[in-house]
Amino acid sequence: MTIFEKIIAREIPSSIVFENDAYIAFKDINPKAPVHVLVVPKKVSSRLDEITQLEMGELFFTASLVARERLNLSDYRLAINVGEGAGQIVFHTHVHILGGWVARSADAHHDDMGEA
Ligand code: AMP
Repeated sequence: MTIFEKIIAREIPSSIVFENDAYIAFKDINPKAPVHVLVVPKKVSSRLDEITQLEMGELFFTASLVARERLNLSDYRLAINVGEGAGQIVFHTHVHILGGWVARSADAHHDDMGEA
């Protein structure tokens, strides 16, 4: 069981910003941007390329909805690390929402995830 399954099951605490039957979104514990939220499908899968085309579409739709409607972000970045070599450390599929920058150049945003 991954840490995200434990968050979904309320076995460990998290700062939840959105939840419905199929998704949960909560604040990243180690934020790499002023606003850093993870959007996580409740259905268990390890990484993006294990889910279906429909699920991918719904995941991105949900992430953009959370970014705009729940986090009030007009500008944001969605990021997915697929595999250890790409920086994935939690093997439960998720999308990062990064945003909340004010008066920073667009170029600076690209470094926020570091090697991830
Ligand atoms: P990734 O590198 O794409 O697998 O990202 C996993 C993310 O999960 C990292 O940004 C971690 O900071 C975050 N994370 C790990 N444990 C927790 C937790 N208990 N609550 C919230 N975020 C977490």
